[in-house]
Amino acid sequence: MNIILLGPPGAGKGTQAKRLVDERGMIQLSTGDMLREARTSGTDMGKKVAAVMDAGNLVTDEIVIGLIEEKLEGDNGGGFIFDGFPRTLAQADALGELLASHGATLDRVVEMQVDDDALVARITGRFTCGNCGEVYHDVTRPLPADGKCVNCGSTDMKRRADDNEESLRTRLMAYYKQTSPLIGYYYAKGNLQSVDGLASIDEVAHSIAEVLG
Ligand code: ADP
Ligand code: ADP
Ligand code: ZN
Repeated sequence: MNIILLGPPGAGKGTQAKRLVDERGMIQLSTGDMLREARTSGTDMGKKVAAVMDAGNLVTDEIVIGLIEEKLEGDNGGGFIFDGFPRTLAQADALGELLASHGATLDRVVEMQVDDDALVARITGRFTCGNCGEVYHDVTRPLPADGKCVNCGSTDMKRRADDNEESLRTRLMAYYKQTSPLIGYYYAKGNLQSVDGLASIDEVAHSIAEVLG
């Protein structure tokens, strides 16, 4: 089963994608993670997109479609979870064509609904394990008392340069202008399902499990 997790920055896409990877053996394809990796490894593409990402704007369709195209060549395990992709109508069309060319289908699009007011708190409290990428939050998902990652035991935690209020405003605007039209696009295609992203992490996981069947 191939699915998209759709929602604004901070909706909980990465958090839920990681659970689906653990519970169902699915493969998470996060274009945000791929772009950050390209930056850390200092590739030309990484250098090119750094300033765009820090400001909170979208990088070009060509770049992200290229990244996804490469990954679709690999093993699909228990299915792909598209996390943070597609973000534009052009990306959505490209994904449909790429899947079709692999004889694959897009089975569900899960829209994670959250209030904008909740997103500032979500984003400004976010940090991740520098070793394994596990997602934490200062208030809603803190580290255990020993300060070690629950997944890998590392104490090396990171915060993203773009997880500040100013960049979030630009990212939210990009979401409403460029990404939210995808809700109507997938509704019309008949595979949109919505879940309440404001519920607890466990409750959201439960709603997603129901939608996926
Ligand atoms: P968040 O988890 O906050 O939604 P991501 O990690 O998915 O953010 O993305 C971080 C940044 O990477 C975005 O603000 C954008 O600059 C870039 N990016 C990620 N995915 C895409 C995409 N599909 N199209 C264009 N830009 C993207
Ligand atoms: P996205 O990938 O959509 O940008 P994340 O999964 O990174 O979102 O979540 C953003 C922040 O909110 C993280 O700090 C995460 O720990 C926290 N978070 C995710 N889901 C929930 C939830 N259901 N309730 C409370 N906090 C959450
Ligand atoms: Zn870890």
